[in-house]
Amino acid sequence: MQVQCFGAAGEVTGSCLLLETGRHRLLLDCGLFQGSREEEERNREEFPFPLDSIDAVILSHAHLDHSGRIPLLIKAGYTGPVYAHAATRDLCRIMLKDSGYLNEKDAQWENRKRQRKGLKPVEPIYTLEEAKASMRAFRTLRYDQRRRILPGVHLRLRDAGHILGSAIVELELEANGTRRRLVYTGDLGHRGAPILRDPARVETADQIIMESTYGDRSHRSWEATWTEMAEVLDSAANSGGNVMVPAFAVGRTQELLYAMQMNYHDWGMDRWQIFLDSPMAIEATRVYSRHVDLYDAEARTGHARHDGLFDLPNLRMTRTANQSMAINRIRSGAIIIAGSGMCTGGRIKHHFKHNLWRSDSHVLIVGFQASGTLGRRLVDGATHVRLWGETIRVGAQIHTIGGLSAHADQAGLLEWYEGIAGRPPVILVHGEDDPRECLAGALRERGAKVRLPQRGETLGL
Ligand SMILES: [Zn+2]
Ligand SMILES: [Zn+2]
Repeated sequence: MQVQCFGAAGEVTGSCLLLETGRHRLLLDCGLFQGSREEEERNREEFPFPLDSIDAVILSHAHLDHSGRIPLLIKAGYTGPVYAHAATRDLCRIMLKDSGYLNEKDAQWENRKRQRKGLKPVEPIYTLEEAKASMRAFRTLRYDQRRRILPGVHLRLRDAGHILGSAIVELELEANGTRRRLVYTGDLGHRGAPILRDPARVETADQIIMESTYGDRSHRSWEATWTEMAEVLDSAANSGGNVMVPAFAVGRTQELLYAMQMNYHDWGMDRWQIFLDSPMAIEATRVYSRHVDLYDAEARTGHARHDGLFDLPNLRMTRTANQSMAINRIRSGAIIIAGSGMCTGGRIKHHFKHNLWRSDSHVLIVGFQASGTLGRRLVDGATHVRLWGETIRVGAQIHTIGGLSAHADQAGLLEWYEGIAGRPPVILVHGEDDPRECLAGALRERGAKVRLPQRGETLGL
């Protein structure tokens, strides 16, 4: 038995593992490469394996760096099933469609440039319709349900606590007289995070394939994070302007709304008009509302008490462009949650245009900002930024709340690993070089055998 890593090897995006049992070939995740233009060009490369040789795809969670090439896989000829948690399917329906729509927009934009240069047009990687069609391949499971998906292959999804529906993939494999228990973490959640349960404990394994995104970091405590949040909201309220919160549509947005509801009085939330200004985040919030069974005990209590987790009395969900533009007339007392999470597109840029230059404005950064993005420039203290060719002075105060990560930190990853009996060997993926090396060192100190695959490298199991 062997595994090959075709993405998220020494990087965090493009997750795609090919598993060969000797009898069957399985794909674990099939995600997009995200980041710079060169990175994203890699999404157009042909798959480095024959598609008709793949028997099944198993998807850990809905984030596009894990799911985003599934429509492409199907467009290219894959006809088998895609196994995922039911909530992952519900979120993929929103995210893959949006991804298809953006692909079409990007291709149109690119083709206008190409036409002027006399070049042949490019096709979108996949379209909105192709994304929709790919949903038919999904086969859903619940957590902890053991299912035989092929002769000699049993699958069980365990709660990974990262986003709704996110799963640790447990596989029992049997081929040619060999039996292996393989566990792939997908993305492992941050203990104590709002709404979701902590990552499930895995009892045993012969081989672990583990993420390492924050393998060299330790997160600020939840308590300190919430205190910081309350302080920032107070100082923003005193200065009298608006607060802009760039947030990812799935996960972070729901955690924020939930935290605002749970701390409604402590944080003085009644001082604000709150806007969720993102059609995708609104849809994702609906999906979160439908899966109450996946909440942790505290969120269930909150749900029962408030008849929902996200129903703040002063929250408005603005779907249409007109509703969104109407927010621009508000000079004071608005909290505007809008995408994109790293400020590279979406409605947040429009709100920046109207508010960023004002000294009574505040920007609340609640998620990771990759280098090269507008969000990162703000975090790094830029005094001016460019929006649609116009230079805008940054008058707003920028606050970074670092503790809201959806990923386990080093202590979380190690604690999860130490819960497994017998120190099984580890293959580390989904991390840049430094965090991956750092986590490898810490695991080796605990007696683990650790391998760090390069892209395309074959590892025996
Ligand atoms: Zn993820
Ligand atoms: Zn990921």
